[in-house]
Amino acid sequence: MGKRKKSSRKPAPSRQKDPLDTTFTCLFCHHDKAVTVRIDKKEGVAQLVCKVCDQRYQSKTHHLTEPIDIYSQWIDAADAAQREGGSSRRPAASSSRPAPAVSYGSDEE
Ligand SMILES: [Zn+2]
Repeated sequence: MGKRKKSSRKPAPSRQKDPLDTTFTCLFCHHDKAVTVRIDKKEGVAQLVCKVCDQRYQSKTHHLTEPIDIYSQWIDAADAAQREGGSSRRPAASSSRPAPAVSYGSDEE
């Protein structure tokens, strides 16, 4: 029997239905390409989710928002949450934190 099994090599299905669907490395479980950012421009929201450890993050978007922006925001938010959730919990009495420099709405570009 000299029949060789061919390795069936299919061409990668190019399903580019959503070019804004982008993957990143997870901050928490460190799995590569586990984090998916999906931007819904119609709704003006972005959703980030890790398919491995199920971390989630949601943010508003504007017309220039890119997946990497949401990913960066998530890193900042996770970082801030880690600092606040330290061993010593103090009441957030002081208003010393700077206002977020985010401008939604009509920015002239
Ligand atoms: Zn994860």
